[in-house]
Amino acid sequence: MTNSPFNIDAIRRDFPSLDQHVHGQPLVYLDSAATSQKPLPVIQCITDYYSGANANVHRGSHSLTASATNRFEAARQTVADFIGASVNGIVWTRGATEALNLIAQSYARQMLKEGDEILISEMEHHANIVPWQIVAEQTGAKIVKWPLDPTRCQLDMSVFDSLLTSRTKLVAVAHISNVTGTRNPVETVIEKAHALGAVVVVDGAQAVVHESVNVEKMDADFYVFSGHKLFAPAGIGALYGKPDILEKMPPWHGGGKMVDNVSFEGTTYTTSPAKFEAGTPNVAGALALAEAINWFNSIDRNGAEQHVASLQAELVEGIRNIEDLSIIGLQQGASVVAFHIDGVHHSDIATLLDQQGIAVRSGQHCAHPLMDALGINGCVRVSIAIYNTSDDIKRCVSAIQKACDLL
Ligand code: PMP
Repeated sequence: MTNSPFNIDAIRRDFPSLDQHVHGQPLVYLDSAATSQKPLPVIQCITDYYSGANANVHRGSHSLTASATNRFEAARQTVADFIGASVNGIVWTRGATEALNLIAQSYARQMLKEGDEILISEMEHHANIVPWQIVAEQTGAKIVKWPLDPTRCQLDMSVFDSLLTSRTKLVAVAHISNVTGTRNPVETVIEKAHALGAVVVVDGAQAVVHESVNVEKMDADFYVFSGHKLFAPAGIGALYGKPDILEKMPPWHGGGKMVDNVSFEGTTYTTSPAKFEAGTPNVAGALALAEAINWFNSIDRNGAEQHVASLQAELVEGIRNIEDLSIIGLQQGASVVAFHIDGVHHSDIATLLDQQGIAVRSGQHCAHPLMDALGINGCVRVSIAIYNTSDDIKRCVSAIQKACDLL
């Protein structure tokens, strides 16, 4: 299927939330790396589901539940196709965070022994650090930091080579950083880790919206993402695990729907992925995530990517000469730009931008180790999505300039 060429006006018509005022100014939403706005088909999907299709899934045999179950499982297939996975490798979760905790508690907790090592990049979001610290405490395994080169905000493969040893059992790395937009060489990481028998967990929370992901080609052991950064609602996401690994993992949560037989003498569990999906799932969320993926696939993805890259270039050009402003680890073609201004607190800048109707994120971005490595106490992150315009960027640049003049 050939999609019609990228058309920003048509895209924006799909996002009613962009058409609002904040502090009397038209909203410029530049915080999509935190969460994206939602297109009409996704909003409609949720309304339709609760207006006429709501039922529990995998329970009973009436028509509504049968139809909800079929749609729920078709949505799993849509997610699988989207990331190049087989459908039995997809487990529904609340999001990337829950998926990473599931891997830590079900896979790593059984597998790790005292003295084993978990190698984690320094640019990770806390969601890809803390679950490993918890499991390290539970098992006696050791966390090893893969430091980044702070001048380029990139991870160095020669450093990786020196840290990867036969003690390394698991490597945790982001596909794309949520702060700088750095794309990590996950394919090389996976190849090298596998050569020494380590499994690799790739955090795809920021990547799935920016590039076509194929987890099987990449040979990732685990890959996680959240729906809400991909035009779907919050509270739904996916864990991909290689089916043979998932099959060997014990359940994490116990309850309904993940069992074969329950008696007071003992319980037997069903197969993966249902084994990991105890309780009533977020059916509407799963359907809405599939709708979001279909919507996203229906647009010209290459055109969209070029659009975002050109807006990022425009933003960089607009702010690079602002006095005392430093861009942190600029990654050309990424959708984010992080910066700080000497002597000015990041939250003051974000507040002044908000007063001009511009939504950006300030703070540590759930990445304290990265902030420490960069020697800063926080920064402002402008994150661009396919629905932003050149006018948004111009307003953002002039608002940053104005904020600097004021502060
Ligand atoms: N990893 C990265 C790189 C992220 O950007 C985020 C969200 N900020 C997460 C993990 C956690 O995602 P969620 O809060 O949706 O579980």
